[in-house]
Amino acid sequence: MDGWIVCETQMYGLHAHSIRLCIRIKFNRQDWGMVSGHYFFTFIQFCFEIIFKRLTLYPNLINAGFMNRFIPFFLVGFAVSFFSCSGSMQQENRIFVTIEPQRYFAERLAHPFFEIETMVAPGTSPESYDPTPRQMVRLAKSRAYFGIGPLGFELAWLDKLKQNNPAVLFFDNSRNVSFVAGESHHHGTHGMDPHIWTSPQTALLIVQNMYDALVELDPGNRDAYAGNRDDLRREILQTDTIVRSLLNRSSQKAFIIYHPALTYFAHDYGLTQYAIESEGKEPAAEQLKQLIDAGRGTVKTVFIQQEFDRKNAEIVAREARCKLVVINPLSYNWSEETIRIAKALSDE
Ligand SMILES: [Zn+2]
Repeated sequence: MDGWIVCETQMYGLHAHSIRLCIRIKFNRQDWGMVSGHYFFTFIQFCFEIIFKRLTLYPNLINAGFMNRFIPFFLVGFAVSFFSCSGSMQQENRIFVTIEPQRYFAERLAHPFFEIETMVAPGTSPESYDPTPRQMVRLAKSRAYFGIGPLGFELAWLDKLKQNNPAVLFFDNSRNVSFVAGESHHHGTHGMDPHIWTSPQTALLIVQNMYDALVELDPGNRDAYAGNRDDLRREILQTDTIVRSLLNRSSQKAFIIYHPALTYFAHDYGLTQYAIESEGKEPAAEQLKQLIDAGRGTVKTVFIQQEFDRKNAEIVAREARCKLVVINPLSYNWSEETIRIAKALSDE
C-alpha cells in the first residue's frame, strides 16, 4: 500500500502574519524504514513541538529574538525534508555503483566529472546488504545508478530504488554479457552466476557499458570519456596479458574455492573451478570427501573469501595438501587482485 503522510501546521504571531506549512512524505508500507523523509519528518515534528511549546509558555520570546534565531535552523530542516521527498531537488554529479570493482572502473572513466560511491560497503555481503539512510539521501540527489546484475542486493533492492528515485537514471553494466548458469547458490533466484567482473574479457564489456552510460548522461564530455576508456582498456588488456603469462607457465589447471566467485575468470583461462560450498550451503561430509579426492594431485590451491567460513576450506586444503589463499574478488583494486589470484595459481 502506498500512501502519503501529510503534516500540516500553522504558525501565528510573526508580525500578525501566518505561515502555513504542509509537508508531504511519500511512503510504501514495506519501505517505511528506508524513506529518508521519515527521519526528517521526525525532525520537523520535533521542531514544531519546540516552537509551539515555547510560544505557549513564553509568548514574549518572539520579541526577545527567539524566533529570529530559530527560524533559519528550522527552514533548513524543512528545505532538506521537502526536497528529499519531492524529487525536484538539484541532482549532484554523483553516480552510485553496487560493488567496489565497479567503482574502480567508473572512477577512471568518469574522472573528473563525476564522483562515484559504492552501495555495498567493503567487507559487507552483496547478498544481504541494506542501504543506510545516508546512502538513500545521497542516492536521491545522484545523477545515476550503475547496476552489475543478479547479485542478491540488486535482486532485493533495485526495483525499490528505481521507484523511490524517479530523477535518478539507472544503467545496467552487464548489458551484452553472456551469463553462465550458476550452480544455484545463495545469489538466489535467477540461477545465474553474478560474478562477471572477475573476467578481464567481461570487464571490457562492463567498461564499454559504463562509457555508453556516461556519454548519455553528459554528451558534452564524450571525448574525455573516450580517452579515459581507452586508457582503462589498455590497463585491463595488460592485466590479462600478465595473468595469461603467469598461467601459461603453470602446471595448475584447476583450483578449489569455497564460494564459486571465479567462474568467469576460470572460463577466460581454461581453468576448472571446484566449489566447496554447495547450493549456497556448507557441504555434506560425502561431498567434502569427493572434493578432496578430486583435488589430490591435480589441485594445489584452495581459495577462500574473507566473508565466508574458513573451516571446510581448511579441511580440504589440509587433506588435499593444497595451500590456502585468502582472496577478495570484491576488492576495489581490480587489476591488483586479478593478478594476485593468477600468482596464487602459478608455480612461482
Ligand atoms: Zn558471490
